[in-house]
Amino acid sequence: MLRPHIVAGNWKMHKGIEEAEAFVRGLERTLDSPDRSGLAELLEEDLLEVLVYPTALCIHSCLISRSTEMVKIGAQNGHWEEKGAYTGEISISALIKEGCDYVLIGHSERRTLFGETDEQVAKKVASVEALGGKAMVCVGELLSQRESGETFNVVRSQVEQALGGRSSDFVAQRLAIAYEPVWAIGTGKTASAQDAQEVCSYIREVVRSLMPNAADSVRVLYGGSVKVDNTFDILKERDIDGLLVGGASLDLEGFTGILNEAY
Ligand code: PEP
Repeated sequence: MLRPHIVAGNWKMHKGIEEAEAFVRGLERTLDSPDRSGLAELLEEDLLEVLVYPTALCIHSCLISRSTEMVKIGAQNGHWEEKGAYTGEISISALIKEGCDYVLIGHSERRTLFGETDEQVAKKVASVEALGGKAMVCVGELLSQRESGETFNVVRSQVEQALGGRSSDFVAQRLAIAYEPVWAIGTGKTASAQDAQEVCSYIREVVRSLMPNAADSVRVLYGGSVKVDNTFDILKERDIDGLLVGGASLDLEGFTGILNEAY
């Protein structure tokens, strides 16, 4: 492991309060169980972060149902303004004050279904930096863009816009970039480990061109139809520092299976 890893579960619009709380408690028990002492050691030594992104409704109950901070809790989205007339939104400021460990920004479902732009992504990232929180920014190409050879240009532009104006300390210590090819999300199609490595390594080089001091520390994750079967191959790649898992994170056994396979 060249950098501390992150394994995150994106629950999207799934799970009510009771189910979410039970999952967090079950995950804590797994991470703390004597036969998984390797995982507990990685967590204690800050070499691994395990987190879930519940719906906004469940964030508070997940936070207070934990008995340790072994499981981190993140928000799937947030608004850059502190407060105001933004019906339906929750501010990044309120999320961080509540104790959210991460804010997920620019997930492809936000970009494609809700029209989130690179400019809005950049404002959200700036807000997380200013408020002392941690951000996970998603980037990735559509199938049509991959097929027309635009993957690197698309990803470069998304990374440059998300990181523009940010400090290298923030990017090195409090930001992760999740490479999620849009065609691999929820489709059962996974990028091959080599393809994922190629783009993740490219993302690191884009960061190097913007802020040389942050490039070797910034965490770059892969996401897109990750499951137990492909976990090991993906994580053995040099520039992949963890996973963002959607569908396979909804079931406790599936998610812990991935963690067991990985560490
Ligand atoms: C995601 O939602 O970020 C994701 C990667 O989903 P899935 O694992 O289901 O493809």
